[in-house]
Amino acid sequence: EIRFEKVKKSYGKVEVVKSLDFSIRDGERLILLGPSGCGKSTTLRMIAGLESITEGRLYMGGREVNDVPSGQRDVAMVFQNYALYPHMTVKQNITYALRTQKMTKDEIEKRLKDALQMLGLEKLENRLPKDLSGGQRQRVALARAVVKQSPYFLLDEPLSNLDAQLRGTARKELVRIHEKFKQTMVYVTHDQIEAMTIGDRIALLNNGILQMLDTPENVYHRPANIFTATFIGSPA
Ligand code: ATP
Ligand code: MG
Repeated sequence: EIRFEKVKKSYGKVEVVKSLDFSIRDGERLILLGPSGCGKSTTLRMIAGLESITEGRLYMGGREVNDVPSGQRDVAMVFQNYALYPHMTVKQNITYALRTQKMTKDEIEKRLKDALQMLGLEKLENRLPKDLSGGQRQRVALARAVVKQSPYFLLDEPLSNLDAQLRGTARKELVRIHEKFKQTMVYVTHDQIEAMTIGDRIALLNNGILQMLDTPENVYHRPANIFTATFIGSPA
């Protein structure tokens, strides 16, 4: 479980996350949805430990993590721009994080093989990122997160650089990966369709305030307020 208790985040005098008070259940796919600038990435980065918390408490697995550094939070993160290491091959990119842990060569090889296979990257393991298509880079970024087998899988608009067709395929791929590992998945997007098709629940943010947290079905058909109704579009 990831629990926000009156969590606030300010940059200087500007409060960009205003008092988040909600929980993310173990094993669920939780979508952070909302317009540009509403605080989605900031919220995700606080979970990842990449952004400090100004006020309130954040708990992960029952432990307060406000002061726990990112490396000790057992999270795997996929960034919007993929953030691959340009000088490393696909294989090196995927295994890099494992090699800094205490893990046997055999275990690393096994995880690499599984991830390459799962994401259809077997023939590309020796390529450099610059010699890959956008969709292939995105799959390397996913593979790099998947091999860590972390209990928390955090994704920040991982599909936004793909064309519409690839996005459709990748949505299904993500759900399939999640069903295999059943990590707690927190997925940031501003795309309603992604939110509806991937999410078990949707947390809708506006101006750093949680507007509604419920199933896609309820967010769509029973919006809690005018912002939700307007953002999601009028019910069919
Ligand atoms: P987008 O959909 O455009 O990615 P977002 O919902 O992810 O938006 P955040 O990146 O969380 O939004 O930013 C929330 C607010 O905080 C924005 O107004 C942004 O300008 C501000 N902000 C983010 N990072 C910083 C920073 N390092 N210093 C000052 N302000 C920041
Ligand atoms: Mg963002």
